[in-house]
Amino acid sequence: MNKQEIYREVDQLQPIFDDSVASLFAHPETGGNEQFSANYLRNVLAKEGFTIHNSEKMEHAFYAEYGQGKPVIAILGEYDALPGLSQKPAAHQEAVQDGGPGHGCGHNLLGSAALIGALATKRCLEKEKISGTIRFYGCPEEELLSGKVKMLRLGMFDGCDLALSWHPMDVNCAYEESYLANISVRFFFHGKTAHAAVAPWQGRSALDAVELMNVGVNYLREHVIDSARIHYSTNCKDIPPNIVPDYASSWYFIRAPHMADVLSILDRVEKVAKGAAMMTETTVDIDVEYGCWEMKKAKVMTDVCYENLKEAPAPQFTKEEIELAKAIQKSLDPQIVQNKNQLYGTKRVMHPIVGDRSFWKIAFMTASTDTGDVSFNMPMSTFSCACWPIGVAPHTWQAAACAGSSLGAKGAFYAAHVIAGQAFDFLHDPEYVQAAKKEFNENQDIQYQSILNHFE
Ligand SMILES: [Zn+2]
Repeated sequence: MNKQEIYREVDQLQPIFDDSVASLFAHPETGGNEQFSANYLRNVLAKEGFTIHNSEKMEHAFYAEYGQGKPVIAILGEYDALPGLSQKPAAHQEAVQDGGPGHGCGHNLLGSAALIGALATKRCLEKEKISGTIRFYGCPEEELLSGKVKMLRLGMFDGCDLALSWHPMDVNCAYEESYLANISVRFFFHGKTAHAAVAPWQGRSALDAVELMNVGVNYLREHVIDSARIHYSTNCKDIPPNIVPDYASSWYFIRAPHMADVLSILDRVEKVAKGAAMMTETTVDIDVEYGCWEMKKAKVMTDVCYENLKEAPAPQFTKEEIELAKAIQKSLDPQIVQNKNQLYGTKRVMHPIVGDRSFWKIAFMTASTDTGDVSFNMPMSTFSCACWPIGVAPHTWQAAACAGSSLGAKGAFYAAHVIAGQAFDFLHDPEYVQAAKKEFNENQDIQYQSILNHFE
């Protein structure tokens, strides 16, 4: 079998792909609730001859395995949706179900392309009778940044040699480095209630502590690395203003390019919280809920990914599709589109090209994902395909609209070819696997440690 033949296998799987994209889009489920989506994928994979491995601890997580022997290749699939982003595949904002969840991150595309990549690889293994095992990973809760971290903790990734991942985006690109490490931490302040007018001096306000902490952290911003991101929301349980609140809390995300930076900023934010508690004579409980890592550099993996991105047949969009893309792009701030066009060096509405290697840094993704944790456990590659017009960001109605249209589907079908192409290379050239593992084992400057305090 050669590369063109594996692409043909992918093409023959188009009916399964189309049904998967549409079915997952029609059943958007938020993180932790992916019953339909996980079962849908389990059924397709079981019918195709994969063995399904579930976990008692995580209902909607699984992996489906086919083949024998080495290498063991993991293909990462996701399928959770986002709350409140219900959206029809249209050029204007219109929910399918008001306030309902929707695929604003395109995970219906992500999961379906990963599925087809795994099925095509299975057919290659079947026809060629070569050594190798393909595993499709059904990963829930990506939007909660916790699914793969838990699956790793449960040992579900044990035995894998390498992992292939991708994400829908507005650009065709392989990533050598990407994603910010992220920690989710809550601060619970406890004070003393009092009548806010009759005897305020008797009270100790937990809300004052929250506000002072936020002020302190906002001053701290000046003195942390530029690339860090700190954001928060607050909660006072709707205590009315005439009561000095004895309870208030804040919820922080701290992000930076490396987990080591995140941990050192966390240490300083904790000091600010304790200072705020001291100032207000309240107490504070600090709860680091979870965290996910940045992506570990894996040059060999990225090279194979990049070559396959260039080699696979890129999508051809029809006139109608380009019109839809233009109409969706019109709903964006023109400045954003202009900036992105400049960055990507194109004026087209759908990103047409796979950029050169310097492009990897330009397109660095500042989001965070639990995929990062996988990259610290085995060599992993990641790439994105243009599934929506240039300038559209994930987690928007525009992205959700594209995820339900043929724009998204065509981008994702391209991704399926890229995944199958990579798996093909690793199955046929054991030296790639060896080189990827060698690089991974040599690059041990950073010791991975799971940040997940509420899961056993
Ligand atoms: Zn996503």
